[in-house]
Amino acid sequence: MNMALRPLRVAIVGTGPAGIYAADALMKSGVEVAIDLFERMPAPFGLLRYGVAPDHPRIKAIVASLHKILDKPQIRLLGNVDVGVDITVEELRGFYDAVVFASGANADRVLGIPGIELEGSYGAADFVSWYDGHPDVPRTWPLAAKQVAVLGVGNVALDVARILAKSADELLPTEIPPNVYDGLRVNRAVEVHVFGRRGPAYAKFTPLELRELDHSPNIEVIVDPGDLVYDEQARALRQNSKSVQLICNTLEQWASRTPGDRPCKLFLHFFQDPVEILDDGNGRVAGLRTERTLPGAAGDATSVDSRVDWRVQAVYRAIGYRSAPIVGLPFDGRAGVIPSEAGRVIADAEADEPGVRYLPATYVTGWIKRGPIGLIGHTKSDASETIASLLADAGGFAPPADPEPRAIVDFLERRGVPFTTWPGWYLLDAYERDLGAHEGRERIKVVEREVMVAVSRSFDETSDRRVSIEP
Ligand code: NAP
Repeated sequence: MNMALRPLRVAIVGTGPAGIYAADALMKSGVEVAIDLFERMPAPFGLLRYGVAPDHPRIKAIVASLHKILDKPQIRLLGNVDVGVDITVEELRGFYDAVVFASGANADRVLGIPGIELEGSYGAADFVSWYDGHPDVPRTWPLAAKQVAVLGVGNVALDVARILAKSADELLPTEIPPNVYDGLRVNRAVEVHVFGRRGPAYAKFTPLELRELDHSPNIEVIVDPGDLVYDEQARALRQNSKSVQLICNTLEQWASRTPGDRPCKLFLHFFQDPVEILDDGNGRVAGLRTERTLPGAAGDATSVDSRVDWRVQAVYRAIGYRSAPIVGLPFDGRAGVIPSEAGRVIADAEADEPGVRYLPATYVTGWIKRGPIGLIGHTKSDASETIASLLADAGGFAPPADPEPRAIVDFLERRGVPFTTWPGWYLLDAYERDLGAHEGRERIKVVEREVMVAVSRSFDETSDRRVSIEP
């Protein structure tokens, strides 16, 4: 095929906001493109579907704008395809001029403290996957603990604490699947303790998400005024940031009021560094030990003051996400990213040779590029940078072995991969809305992968599906 006569063929791996914004940036560049978006899950939208809390419809509404992008004729969706497993990176390259990885981060960072392996010690990402109806996690979640600790003071920590502290009925109008509602109905948590290892000026959560805790009729937020202390550096931070100011003001307001009688007490603690999860003697969580810290010179709370033991039966670490490596690509295990420069993947970051070598026509964007920080909007500027690099390099791309649009589809069919498509998502979307409509809810999520795939692929095998996957 003559490259001049065909569009630039690009594969994007990952259909979260990062991947979809990259597709958008490519389409808006003015270059004629044909994009295949690969997704491990049978449904698109990444963390919007499997990371955003169900009681955050405002954020979930971003799906509507991503929908418009995926509706464009230059894009095909190939879902339920695990790149690195169902198709190797090398095989993928054979069909495209360039490949962009936007596979995100959805595992928990490791916390190396004694007791982390105990029963009742969980990663926040796993719990989020459960309450967001991810197909690849168990359908039940143990919620017998009356006192619970949440480690970290980022937005994920607040999500986890809020879901643990709300009543199941408050969450019923959302899209939570039946198994999650049933699980939350027997949740026994009456105390949720959230721990920041530094002072309030260094909290990572955002003011809106903080204030939201107080909106639930089930949650009594409690803050110890003794935790709201600021050294010179923290005061400067507060002065220079509207967001820090709002957070500190809210916490001070809560610390000064007399606690009411809402059923679940949610304590926000600061200057408490988790150092050990305590064993009940039978391998189960019986408590959390923290060290009281003092603000250090660089804003790090390093000086040890005293130790405190907290009686809890479950500990959730919400200390950040971690990306998974992709077989066939380099990975910086320490930073948890694919090493890159301006979105170009660096072939061998460890090599002694002078100069940087890039993997040909291979790019990254989103959390796999810069680590799991930043809000959804930040992935837009990230995508612009990566796509600018891709387009600058495009003149030098070696032609792929088989750029025919049909070739990748034939390959997946030959390999027996039951891929899903964009028209298939319309079917699943309608199916979930229909499930919801029967109960007066907007949507009820389908959890089982087999059902998601069956519904997505349920149109006429001989006609529609073949037609619908053509660009
Ligand atoms: P995060 O914002 O990086 O917060 C991680 C928290 O864990 C920090 O408080 C950090 O404290 C703490 N931490 C890290 N290592 C620790 C350790 N060894 N011991 C104790 N605490 C430790 O990460 P995240 O909450 O996972 O959020 C990821 C991104 O997604 C963020 O950009 C977040 O805003 C976004 N997000 C947004 C929403 C929303 O908008 N509603 C919801 C969820 C997630 P230090 O600061 O001291 O390191």
